[in-house]
Amino acid sequence: MPAPPQPTVPTTTGGRFPVRRIFCVGRNYAAHAREMGHDPDREPPFFFSKPADAVVADGADTPYPPLTGQLEHEVELVVAIGAAAADVPVADALDTVWGYGVGLDLTRRDLQAEAKRLGRPWDAAKGFDASATVGVLVPAAGVDPTHGTVELTVNGTLRQAGDLADQIWSVAETIAELSRAVRLAPGDLLMTGTPDGVGPLVRGDVVEGRIAGVGSVRTVVV
Ligand code: MN
Repeated sequence: MPAPPQPTVPTTTGGRFPVRRIFCVGRNYAAHAREMGHDPDREPPFFFSKPADAVVADGADTPYPPLTGQLEHEVELVVAIGAAAADVPVADALDTVWGYGVGLDLTRRDLQAEAKRLGRPWDAAKGFDASATVGVLVPAAGVDPTHGTVELTVNGTLRQAGDLADQIWSVAETIAELSRAVRLAPGDLLMTGTPDGVGPLVRGDVVEGRIAGVGSVRTVVV
């Protein structure tokens, strides 16, 4: 049996970043927490994950997934880890970052609502095939992850608009917290939460995410 292909994401330096794992943060913008029916109170961040091979490249199509009638978009800053990190202090956390990108944490919202209601895991809602669109990664040196507008349009209409400055947990704090739970290693990606304005997608939608100073990502739902 041949080994499965290594999922990768292209970089602005002409190489490819090998994806090891994909972690995601839930409810990291107050306005999004409120729109999902929660009170944002800076409780410690919580994490879920997607398989590495859920990655969809910038510009590639996203197949509408099975088992749902409510596929939703979430535009997020993606952090690409480039150095091992276990129990890393907040002050040193950004030293572990190789670079950044713009990603879509696609969600089967109806399955997530059911999982919440029944106290079940989110895997089926979050970790399905092609659920992680990730744009070209830019090296960390040129990026300040503490501020920058975050936007998502569908067919050119603005759906989500926020700012990295509105994150409840900063990128450094999120890396530090996650590194207390698992040993982060080169190849790990971290999706850092979405601003408010999440909503449904249908086949044919052109979805574009942008973060100032980072880049963009584009996919068509087919
Ligand atoms: Mn998300």
